[in-house]
Order: sequence, then structure tokens, then C-alpha cells
Amino acid sequence: MLDEFVKDKFERPIISLRITITNRCNVNCLYCHHDGMVTSREEMTANELYTICKIAKKLGVQKIRLSGGEPLIRKDIVEIVEKINSLGFKDISMTSNGILLEKYAQGLKDAGLNRINVSLDTLNRETYEFITRKDYLESAKAGILKAVEVGLYPVKINMVIMKDINQNEVKDMFEFCKENNMVLQLIELIESENCDDDKFSADYHYKLDMIEERLADIADDVHERKFMQGRKKYYIDGGEIEVVRPVDNSTFCANCSRLRITPDGKIKPCLLRNDNLVELISHIRAGESEEELTKIFIDGINNREPFNQ
Ligand code: SAM
Repeated sequence: MLDEFVKDKFERPIISLRITITNRCNVNCLYCHHDGMVTSREEMTANELYTICKIAKKLGVQKIRLSGGEPLIRKDIVEIVEKINSLGFKDISMTSNGILLEKYAQGLKDAGLNRINVSLDTLNRETYEFITRKDYLESAKAGILKAVEVGLYPVKINMVIMKDINQNEVKDMFEFCKENNMVLQLIELIESENCDDDKFSADYHYKLDMIEERLADIADDVHERKFMQGRKKYYIDGGEIEVVRPVDNSTFCANCSRLRITPDGKIKPCLLRNDNLVELISHIRAGESEEELTKIFIDGINNREPFNQ
């Protein structure tokens, strides 16, 4: 229908769609913001996810990211990727905790998954168990190494930095990433109404300024990712560190090109808000035409506004 991507009222192009395909998870991280979603047990079928992606593709969306909850908990995860891949996106990626990845990595690669981000905040067993409240560090590491082996390239490690918990582990994690040809993403802890424990994010929030200053000092090169919320990428000794700072960073909103879908099938215009969702799945289930569904998608895009304004 449209040959270029649509833009919102603030001239921000919509390039990527992040779909939360389940709220279920096999860990219970202390800080989890549940991807900004109100928790719900509802899920969409593989066919419904296909329809959503088809409309998004028509509107010019180029990239799909599947997230959760834990996306690998869905038994039909390979089928979901296969169906979405048949639509011809430039990029299909996933965010996972890696625990079930050793089993699924090859199947996902064959189905058309291009790359994966795996959340791993620490290499220390006790700290891992403190954060996730589960004993799966070794499974997560095995999953990560399998993803590298099958070529889900680049494998990125998502590390949320927490004061007095893992702020001193950046160097070790960077070495682990460099050794295995992976990119390290440092994420600033977001305070969220969805966290199980609000006090946790307040107590452990750690501003990434000092870490970024240090990275800037030692980096061989620095790039800014224009359409990825203005994130900075630091190239150091043949490795890469990317910094994700949704807090205290007005460029995060200015450069946001991402729309989200909740597990119960609503369009979510902003990571940090739940008051402007647009209902989509009931229209798909009612068998409405692609034209009608496209209009609903555009309503969702029209609801986008920078959080910091
Ligand atoms: N289960 C998958 C995983 O562990 O990657 C996908 C869902 S998880 C909600 C997606 C990402 O959000 C993870 O990288 C996680 O570290 C990050 N995240 C969750 N809560 C956060 C918070 N309060 N602040 C910053 N990042 C957070």
C-alpha cells in the first residue's frame, strides 16, 4: 500500500515492531518491567501474529522483534518465526533469557531468525540467583554459546546495570563477549510501575554517565544509532559496547522508531506508557478486512508522542 514507512505526528518513521508474544516467564527477575505491559495471561496464535506482521509490513515496518515474558516458552516459537519470515522482513530478532536457547537455536536460525539478544546481567552464580531467583546460569550460558555457533549474528548480551550488584562486572562481561564474538549492551535500570518491587529500581538505579565517560575515554571509535533512540556504540579493542539509556535521555524518545504489540493484542505506542493502547486483536478475530486493520494500526501510530514532552 505505502512504499515507504509511515511517520508519526512528530515525523518519526516507524521502522520496527516489537511483539510480546507471551507474558509467561521461567525466571522472576527482581527488576522486571514486563516490557512495559500490564500483565495478562492472554496470547495470540501464530496465525494472528502473522496477520499483525502482514499489516505492519504493508505500512513499511522493516524489522520485527519477538519478546516476552520469555518467548522460548511458547512451544510454537519456531512456527511463529517461520510464518513471520515468509513475509520478507529485512530483520527478525528476539530477546530471550537464553535458558531454553540451546534446544531452539538451530531451529530458529533455520526458520529465519536473524539474530538474538540474550539477557545476562552477571557471570556470577550467586548474583544470577539473586537477580533471577532461579538457578539457570549454566543453561543460559550454554544457550548463548549455541546461538553464536549456529550464527544468530550478532548475539548481543543485554546487561542491566544495578548499583552494588553488578556495576563492577562490566569488564568481565565485556571480556566474555569479546571472546565469543558478541556485542555487549549495557542497559540503564528503568523504574517502572510494573516492577514487582518498586523500591528495588529506586534502590539499585545506577546512572550510566560514569561508565559512558570511561568508555568514551578508552574507545577507539564511537557511533550514534540515529533511529535506535540515539544509542551510542563504543568500539574498544576489537569489541563493541552499546549503551541503552531510556532514563534521563531525551534523545531516547526523539529517535524512537518502534511500535509495540502487547501479548493480548493491543498496539502500544510507548514503552513507558499504558494509557494510550489501541485494541487490535478483537478486530482480527472478528474477521475485519486488511483495510480496516490498517486503519487501526494507523490510529496506534497517531497515538505516539514523546514521553519527555
Ligand atoms: N525474557 C526475555 C529476556 O529476559 O530478555 C525478554 C523479556 S525482558 C522484559 C526484555 C529486556 O528488558 C531484558 O533485556 C531485560 O533485562 C530488560 N528489562 C526488564 N526490566 C527492566 C528494567 N526495570 N530496567 C531496564 N531493563 C529492563
